[in-house]
Amino acid sequence: MNEEVELKVQEDRQMWPPMDNVPISNIVPTHTNIAISPAPQGAPINPNNFVEYELPFEYVQQGWKKFWSKRENRPYFWNKLTGESLWEMPPLNKPQFDPITDPLGICPPVGAHPVAMQSPIPVAKRRPSEELVGPQAKKFVLAGPWDLDVQTNVVIIERPPCNYMHSHPEVEAYRCSLLSKLRQCYQELCHSRQSIDAPKESFNRWLMERKVLDTGCDPLLPSNCYPEISMSMYKEIMNDIPIKLVRPKFTGDARKQLSRYAEAAKSIMESRNAEAESRKVVKWNVDETFQWLRRTVGATYDDFQDRLAHLKQQCQPHLTETVKVSVEGICLKIYNLSAEYARKVREKSNIILKEHGLELPPVLPNNSTRKVWCYPIQFQIGCTRLPVIEYLPDRDQAMLRFQGDTLVINATHLQKMEHLYRHSCFDDRKFELFIPRVWVVLKRYATFLGVNPSSAVASNDVHDTQASLPVTVFECLHRMFAVSFECFASPLNCYFKQYCSAFADCDSYFGSRGLFLHLKAVSGSFEAHPPYCEELLEATIDHMERLLSESHEPLSFVIILPDYREPTPTGLQRAEESQFKRKQVTIPAYEHEFRHGLQHVLNRSELNIRSTHGTVIIWLQNQAGFSRWGPTEDRVEALLEAFRPGRERERDRQELLSPTRQGSTSDNKDVLVH
Ligand code: SAH
Repeated sequence: MNEEVELKVQEDRQMWPPMDNVPISNIVPTHTNIAISPAPQGAPINPNNFVEYELPFEYVQQGWKKFWSKRENRPYFWNKLTGESLWEMPPLNKPQFDPITDPLGICPPVGAHPVAMQSPIPVAKRRPSEELVGPQAKKFVLAGPWDLDVQTNVVIIERPPCNYMHSHPEVEAYRCSLLSKLRQCYQELCHSRQSIDAPKESFNRWLMERKVLDTGCDPLLPSNCYPEISMSMYKEIMNDIPIKLVRPKFTGDARKQLSRYAEAAKSIMESRNAEAESRKVVKWNVDETFQWLRRTVGATYDDFQDRLAHLKQQCQPHLTETVKVSVEGICLKIYNLSAEYARKVREKSNIILKEHGLELPPVLPNNSTRKVWCYPIQFQIGCTRLPVIEYLPDRDQAMLRFQGDTLVINATHLQKMEHLYRHSCFDDRKFELFIPRVWVVLKRYATFLGVNPSSAVASNDVHDTQASLPVTVFECLHRMFAVSFECFASPLNCYFKQYCSAFADCDSYFGSRGLFLHLKAVSGSFEAHPPYCEELLEATIDHMERLLSESHEPLSFVIILPDYREPTPTGLQRAEESQFKRKQVTIPAYEHEFRHGLQHVLNRSELNIRSTHGTVIIWLQNQAGFSRWGPTEDRVEALLEAFRPGRERERDRQELLSPTRQGSTSDNKDVLVH
């Protein structure tokens, strides 16, 4: 743990010229992987050591200067606008260099950066190991299903820091206990009022749907949404009334389901305050169904299914009308309870903050129009002291325990978190807050998913909302379309070190740029593989269309969606009908795989899951994005190839066999490349 990589300090690299000074219109962001660039780095701090040489005017105009390196005894070129330095003469109009992922988060003009506000913990500059690159430097490659070296090519409109409290295990434990209580209450309400189980995953979808609207104060518990009644929750409950219908396996099951539906419909009409006319219609249809069941011998599977469809068509409108108020009541109760819980969490947060002389800040307005490289979410206030978390490393996994609550994470994923932290966290140079912050992430996601990941390991249906693309697909998206950013991810499933996630607060230390719907992207190449939630998907497509129509700089989204089509217009349809659509391909069910949503606790052998649904890939790009990253036949072909089942395992095998391999597969140990 916390193994610092030995890297040699270069004396002539102390400070990058702040990117704030760069007029963004002068730069065209593109992907440039500079991590192992054998170039001199940074501005010549001591001009006496360097002789400056003249360059042609066009070069000077683009920010280039030529210097003599005494140490190396040869000339080199430095760009005062971007901070890039090269041994060789750069080509004119060279694409934009991205010195470190987040220049603005790292080198702000003094006093201008939000991180410094009210922080009781001294705000640290990026750790030295981050800054060291160059011919002598060793490069620490963390092998795994990710590539944390890819630099961002995303430019956004600057935003103010968030007003959340920093991660705090005590607050998180409290918040999560309340969310679990809320989930439990939802189940009980569905059971007692509608005699059904809470529809599977509908609570999670509700959380995601609410996030589209929520302007409340809690990062997890919805607390300020309009309308208060969630249509997604309402529809999902309604869909399972009077009973949840499943596709029967055998004829006997089809018969049973028909009769169960009829019974349940009858019972609802008898026990509720139904309109006389509705009661009459349902009773008549139910009686007729029972008569049909009694008199029909040798009915087939299809006969039963047709009969059920007919019965449903006749009864459902009356059932819906009868239970409407009661279902709305469930939605309202859950929402109000959630808002109350959010207030309680806020009170607890305030007590802890007060002990440290801090308080929760107000929401800052976002009036900025400044374009900046996309950097991780920052906080308005500083971090309090955090309680100790027990860290119990084992061979392949580590256990993190707080107040008897033990959370597990694979050793490789913990190392990944450490790398992400090193890249994106600016207030904890000594990694003193690292373990508590990882504990909070694990706790948040376990509670969000409603599972104990260590016991849910065997179950395959957990958790679609976190399933990710195979490594081979990410590699290809990066290679072919310069993708450097995931619009939907978590620190546990991200492939790139820059991504949006559901939880701006606890994920920010690990690179999150917050909710995708809040990201005002101007340019860059994105991959979007959203969790399944119709409202989120529709809002996502609307958001992308807005961004695409407002920007003339290259902007591209490769969207990956399940091929679910409902009778009503869906987010998928919106994407298909978008004026920015450049291409669409569908991969049939069972002809591709995903990575399990619990990849951070599973064994390698349990990771790849065949997709039981088709997957649609859609390219939405503005003109400049299309010119740069358009879905040409070759690129699309390569992507489809990367999706083929088994490609990831094959890639692992090849890495194992590779003579240059230093003990890594995509889920294995670290490699130190010199
Ligand atoms: N990054 C992987 C996995 C995507 S799974 C890939 O691209 O294949 C979808 C992820 O989106 C989950 O981790 C989920 O927590 C996250 N998510 C949910 N709501 C979100 C939101 N509003 N904005 C950004 N991410 C969100």
